[in-house]
Amino acid sequence: MKKCRKILHNFISSTKLYEKNIFTVSNMLSAFFHFKWKIMLLNDEYYMQQALREAAKAFEQDEIPIGAVIVVNQKIIARAYNMTEQLNDSTAHAEILALTSAYNFLGSKYLPEATLYVTVEPCLMCVGAMYWSKLSRVVWGADDEKNGHRHVTEPNFPFHPKTKIRTGILKAECALLMKTFFQKRR
Ligand SMILES: [Zn+2]
Repeated sequence: MKKCRKILHNFISSTKLYEKNIFTVSNMLSAFFHFKWKIMLLNDEYYMQQALREAAKAFEQDEIPIGAVIVVNQKIIARAYNMTEQLNDSTAHAEILALTSAYNFLGSKYLPEATLYVTVEPCLMCVGAMYWSKLSRVVWGADDEKNGHRHVTEPNFPFHPKTKIRTGILKAECALLMKTFFQKRR
């Protein structure tokens, strides 16, 4: 009888332990995903901060202050800022220069593992270039009602079907730099 009780006790406690483990694992999983999501948010802000640094370089050189970085496996593989004045080239947008730099760096004509961060909503030309690059993600900061692609492309999705979009990261900072630039110009 005593042995029987002991076995029963062991069984119950092992079941409880099992349940407890399930509970813990599920909690851990949910914490992990929450953490991962939070890390992704933090990452997006960090890399947009880096794109803003590029935009600030453009600002200092009297170029429209737009900056971009391209990230693969959490490493920045390309940085660029708008250079249309210096290069006398109306297509020398930050995104185009960053894409070319990334292709060269990786020795590849597609960037399916890469995320492109740009401080301002990309124009129609840049979105066309991004389509061909097959980027994994595109993240931009401030919207651009005048020159952004959306006033032409909406309601269509002009990026590659596999590309994911995120907008509004450090939106205020990105917009402020543009606003200050154009106020200074007037
Ligand atoms: Zn552009």
